[in-house]
Amino acid sequence: MAVPKRRTSITRKRKRRTHQKLSVPGMVECPNCGEMKLSHRVCKECGSYKGEDVAAN
Ligand SMILES: [Zn+2]
Repeated sequence: MAVPKRRTSITRKRKRRTHQKLSVPGMVECPNCGEMKLSHRVCKECGSYKGEDVAAN
């Protein structure tokens, strides 16, 4: 709803913005090397997935 800027109190504005947050895409710790990696992806640090070394480089 369009409301003049000064009519919205700081508290009201802040309360509204509690719902705005940045979401981090499913990061999990690699069980092999401990680096943060995307879940369901091969770890790019050590090239392991599900405890197996699948790196081809
Ligand atoms: Zn790893």
